[in-house]
Amino acid sequence: MALVVQKYGGTSVGTVERIKAVAEKVGRFHDDGNQVIVTVSAMSGETNRLLGLSNAISSSPAARELDVVVSTGEQVTIGLLVMALIELGYDARSYTGGQVKIITDSAHGKARIQRIEDKNLRNELDAGRIVVVAGFQGVDESGNITTLGRGGSDTTAVALAAALKADECQIYTDVDGVYTTDPRVVDCAKRLDKITFEEMLEMASLGSKVLQIRAVEFAGKFGVPLRVLSSFKEGPGTLITCEEDDSNMERPLISGIAFNRDEAKLTLRGVPDKPGVASHILGPVGDANIEVDMIVQNIGGNSTNDFTFTVHRNEYHKAIEVLTKVAKDVGAAELVSDDKIAKVSVVGVGMRSHAGVASTMFRSLADESINIQMISTSEIKISVVIEEKYLELAVRALHTAFDLDVHEDKD
Ligand code: ASP
Ligand code: MG
Repeated sequence: MALVVQKYGGTSVGTVERIKAVAEKVGRFHDDGNQVIVTVSAMSGETNRLLGLSNAISSSPAARELDVVVSTGEQVTIGLLVMALIELGYDARSYTGGQVKIITDSAHGKARIQRIEDKNLRNELDAGRIVVVAGFQGVDESGNITTLGRGGSDTTAVALAAALKADECQIYTDVDGVYTTDPRVVDCAKRLDKITFEEMLEMASLGSKVLQIRAVEFAGKFGVPLRVLSSFKEGPGTLITCEEDDSNMERPLISGIAFNRDEAKLTLRGVPDKPGVASHILGPVGDANIEVDMIVQNIGGNSTNDFTFTVHRNEYHKAIEVLTKVAKDVGAAELVSDDKIAKVSVVGVGMRSHAGVASTMFRSLADESINIQMISTSEIKISVVIEEKYLELAVRALHTAFDLDVHEDKD
């Protein structure tokens, strides 16, 4: 007998009909002899509606009260789902976060789970019941209702699975798994059977649309096997797991191609080449709370450096302001900036044991005459910055070069 935590997102419980369908799915799982804990989100659109009501009363609603209001969406769905299960003849019971108890800190709107008391849930499971727990919510030590941040039901599910040492945490959503890249860019992108937590985090730009990243971190930390599947069509989904779990499996070299258009690039040319210059440049950038992603420095002629880095596009103008001043202070020749860039990354734990990934990547970009402006690498990822207008071409070329294209029908 397996113990499984299943999470159904807002679309999956978006109508009464869909709630009934979820009840049938959950019930079948229980019939197969599994113990099931279900976590649900609010019906789709409901959390936004509740936020809207609150904002109509106050432009800055009291954080404690906002949580009282927005947490109600999930209380409705747990009750409705349990009613549907009872209609089908199952023994089931609903629990709010406070009833479980899911204890969080007191950071309203972005609370972190500190511990989960598993006694109530264990008793229910031992009595043969299906338990339905409200996602997204908890209580702090004083009993105040808290919420975990948008998309927080994923984290509830993973935390429950960790606390109860479940065999698997299944996230049912409106896509049928994690893909090698965004299927809207590459129509022959394929669903991955497996991906490691590390890869999933590196693919965040793609993965975050599927799963709350915090939930993935949490699952990695506690070793909870996590599976993403579709609530609407049958299929194995994608299992997110620790690398060690399948060390004897032949893994593909590259698991996926991630990309983002959210960055901008700044270069200081002709910076005097002497100790302390990098900190002189990046110090004020950090002080202005601007996060820096890639950094490249290379020596030009005449004992000067060119110093380039990327920032989030939202902070581009702020960064230009800071650097204009820094340029004078460090005696740089000129400041050049560009926000029409994109970052493309190939991601895969297979890189650890195989050479040649970088050269394949660079060759395939060269074959398309795409110029690489910056390069950075980590153990399982190689990223390049290119001109934004070539992004889709680059992603498609790399997807083919690393043998990720699927040609048969996706269904
Ligand atoms: N209902 C919450 C939201 O819309 C939590 C969730 O769906 O995971 O963000
Ligand atoms: Mg969600």
